[in-house]
Amino acid sequence: MRILTAQATRNIEAKAVKQGTGYRQLMENAGTAAAELIWEAYPKAGGPVVVLCGKGNNGGDGFVAARRLCQKGAKVSVVLAGGPPKTEDAAHMRALLTDLPVSVTEDLEEGAALLSRAGLIVDAMFGIGFHGELRAPYDRLVLAVNEAKAPVVSLDVPSGLDSDSGFVPKVCIHADLTVSFSALKPVHAVYPAKEACGRILVAPVGIGEDIVEQEESQISGISEKSVRRCFSPRRQNTNKGDFGKLLCVVGSAGMTGAAFLSVSAALRCGVGLVYLAAPKDVCTILAGRLTEPVLCPLPQTEGGTLSAGGAPVLRSRLRAASACLIGCGLGCNEDTQKIVEDLLLHSTAPIVLDADGINCAAKHIDIWKRAGAPLVLTPHPGEMARLTGKSIGEIQSRRLESAREFAVEHDVVLVLKGAGTVIGLPDGRCLVNATGNPGMAKGGSGDLLAGMIASFLAQGMAPEKAAMCGVYLHGKAGDRAAKDLSEQAMLPSDLLSRLPALFLEIET
Ligand code: ADP
Ligand code: ADP
Ligand code: MG
Repeated sequence: MRILTAQATRNIEAKAVKQGTGYRQLMENAGTAAAELIWEAYPKAGGPVVVLCGKGNNGGDGFVAARRLCQKGAKVSVVLAGGPPKTEDAAHMRALLTDLPVSVTEDLEEGAALLSRAGLIVDAMFGIGFHGELRAPYDRLVLAVNEAKAPVVSLDVPSGLDSDSGFVPKVCIHADLTVSFSALKPVHAVYPAKEACGRILVAPVGIGEDIVEQEESQISGISEKSVRRCFSPRRQNTNKGDFGKLLCVVGSAGMTGAAFLSVSAALRCGVGLVYLAAPKDVCTILAGRLTEPVLCPLPQTEGGTLSAGGAPVLRSRLRAASACLIGCGLGCNEDTQKIVEDLLLHSTAPIVLDADGINCAAKHIDIWKRAGAPLVLTPHPGEMARLTGKSIGEIQSRRLESAREFAVEHDVVLVLKGAGTVIGLPDGRCLVNATGNPGMAKGGSGDLLAGMIASFLAQGMAPEKAAMCGVYLHGKAGDRAAKDLSEQAMLPSDLLSRLPALFLEIET
């Protein structure tokens, strides 16, 4: 499903108007479609329907929904939140209510009383035009809505939320159902706002599918189609050298699993050759379990992590690599910090930096400026907090903005993991992922993702595309594992055996 920013939504509306569908018709279609979905979701509201209409065009959609619900036999009251409509189209829709048995009030005290007795509440106060904070009198009305027992349906965007952000302010509507028009908006896809939207349905409003599909958006969803387009059949007359060499600098004592999982995922994603560069004890332990990679045992510290003395060997290995994965289970100490710095400074091949790779790099101020290679960083929110010096709360409340700001400032691809993974791109665009599930919230899931992205990079995929394909397919493999094994029982390693079927689907 497409994700469109407020600007992109305005663009598609303008295109539809240019092709002959009037704006008023779009409003009529939106309100009508919403009423259908509301009636289907709540066929027997246990009391009157109260529709809160703002003075903008979102209110206009609300007037249409009120009319349609009344025509279906509901007892409908409309509350003019913020006074009479101020756009011509909304005023027209308001006027159409006068012939119907719909009570309309501007009195907010009366409105609040109606809310407490409502069987269903429709929130059409603010839509995609809203920015900033809800002020009086809306804030009180919103509190009354949230306190009311009736289910709440928001039209387009729960009021108080900015449609281009995942941020949830102190005061906003918490909906049970949100009916988005034409396509999803970022607010419907990025946590925590996604949670405040409740169930999410998309209602077409009569804008051609081609118009919606072709619109470029600063924030967009990752579609199966866009992932498929990144793969082409492996040419016949080829050899392993044609599919890249990936150097994996991963693992330490006690963290052999992270090395195993990342390397296995990379292998399952098609790379020609994998070099596993790890402390020698890790190589010894993994030698019996990993048959395909070339093992490069390296000197280790007493604690079983890579010792800084291994840097020259790594540098020479790096020269032959088409991509490098650094960090899964690496450990973070002076020695590994030196190794990470050295690799970042000397690599010309693209690098995936995960886990302790990120933690080590975060200790070096300015490392991003000095690194020569294209970088893909894959922090979870805790690592992102360390990387930016912000708190996890700050990162999580503004996931889109956090990923985008870092990506733009440091010219890297930043994959901010977690439910609804966000990919920030150096040019300021963001991609939002919808695959994956809480069954993946287990140690080891992220190591797989890092290996997958690194494998695609090694095969020559551009960093943005490698991150996009990795994140989407990783989540999809997780969804397959959850279906077969349950979210509860599935293990990160179970994702590995789900990858072949996904690639079979891509190849056909
Ligand atoms: P549109 O009319 O653009 O489709 P809405 O129906 O969502 O969008 O209404 C947006 C209107 O709300 C804008 O005209 C704007 O002046 C107003 N608005 C935006 N942010 C706020 C805010 N924080 N508080 C009150 N009004 C706001
Ligand atoms: P580890 O370092 O233990 O391998 P990470 O925290 O680095 O784990 O990565 C966890 C992976 O699992 C990420 O790709 C993340 O997006 C995914 N994940 C975790 N929880 C969820 C969830 N609730 N929904 C979807 N994906 C999730
Ligand atoms: Mg991790």
